[in-house]
Amino acid sequence: MKTYDFIIVGNGLAGSLIANELLNRGQKIIVFQDNSLKSSSSVAGGMVNPVTGKYLAKTWLHEELFGLLFEYYRTLENELGGSFFHQTGLFRPFSNPENKKHFLNQIEKNRLEDYLEVIEDVTEFQKHFKIELGGMFTQKAGWCDVPLLVSRIKEKLIKNEALIEENFDYSLLRTEEERVNYKNIFVSKIIFCEGFYASKNPYFDWLPFNPVKGETLIGEIENYNVKPIVNQGKWLMPLGNNKVRLGATYSWHSLDFEPTEKAKDELLATMNKVLISDFKIEDQQAGIRPATKDRRPFVGVHPKYKNLFIFNGLGTKGVSLAPYFTGQLLDFIFYQKDINPEANIERHYSLYS
Ligand SMILES: Cc1cc2nc3c(=O)[nH]c(=O)nc-3n(C[C@H](O)[C@H](O)[C@H](O)COP(=O)(O)OP(=O)(O)OC[C@H]3O[C@@H](n4cnc5c(N)ncnc54)[C@H](O)[C@@H]3O)c2cc1C
Repeated sequence: MKTYDFIIVGNGLAGSLIANELLNRGQKIIVFQDNSLKSSSSVAGGMVNPVTGKYLAKTWLHEELFGLLFEYYRTLENELGGSFFHQTGLFRPFSNPENKKHFLNQIEKNRLEDYLEVIEDVTEFQKHFKIELGGMFTQKAGWCDVPLLVSRIKEKLIKNEALIEENFDYSLLRTEEERVNYKNIFVSKIIFCEGFYASKNPYFDWLPFNPVKGETLIGEIENYNVKPIVNQGKWLMPLGNNKVRLGATYSWHSLDFEPTEKAKDELLATMNKVLISDFKIEDQQAGIRPATKDRRPFVGVHPKYKNLFIFNGLGTKGVSLAPYFTGQLLDFIFYQKDINPEANIERHYSLYS
């Protein structure tokens, strides 16, 4: 018989940040990770961007999320070793005079001066892009190399003998009043972080998930020296050494991990409206984002089994949401602090029967 404080199921971005934080708080944990189940984190673009969309809306909880995440990932880099967070900034060109007028109005209307700087001189971009009318630049954007971050935390788990690389079989879970028994491992609490696969978890399958398939292309552009991410319908992210990632597509059908011609054509057709350099494709990746019907995360405790927790629903913005909601879930567990009601799964308890 073995005893632990926590079992964590899933070692994607959500499970990794939770596990790392629990280890740092001195907890005895064991993580189950089934490597035959492809994760969203292994193909994520990892972009963070506080202002998005046609109407330049500030992202939900932008102050809380963006007030924390840069420092959070830098601290993780120092702690774990490695450079996985890149605050490159993001440039969004104006596509025509009407589009420029619309965005300038939105910047004023939404008071975005602290977020977006209008750039007139675009010579930096013109070697690779057909950009004439300037655009908007935000410094508060960049990307996280999620696979690298996850692999660093995995190394830490292995060092702490806290990782079991096998499937967590829900049918073998026995819940008792004060503890949980799984294959003779006794723990006080389980945190489920299975991403898209949570729909197979009989304890949480009643939550309204709405998974979204996404695809990206990895490629090379000769002498690519543009530092920020360029976003024009699709985004082009510099990975270093002339490598770039082009993303991303959204599909609510055919929820599989197969790259498609359709997605490749869509990505290239959109980006080639502004990209004039040759994009040499090296790889195409597909994954399924664990999104939810109301586009808010699933954080909290099971309505009946008070030692079962969920950290999921990070959707399209896992890198922005995960640091803040890791803190929210653990503060709830340890200090009974409130979880943001829009993220707390209490909002869906009426669906549980
Ligand atoms: C193409 C694409 C582009 C994206 N771009 C961005 C972006 O630019 N910015 C951003 O913030 N987000 C982006 N995302 C979203 C991001 O990937 C997710 O929000 C985040 O990675 C979700 O992490 P997760 O840990 O919840 O899920 P996952 O990464 O899917 O991890 C879940 C893990 O649980 C494991 N698991 C499941 N069931 C079991 C079981 N029974 N037993 C053991 N292990 C199990 C799986 O193997 C997996 O490793 C993108 C996603 C895709 C697909």
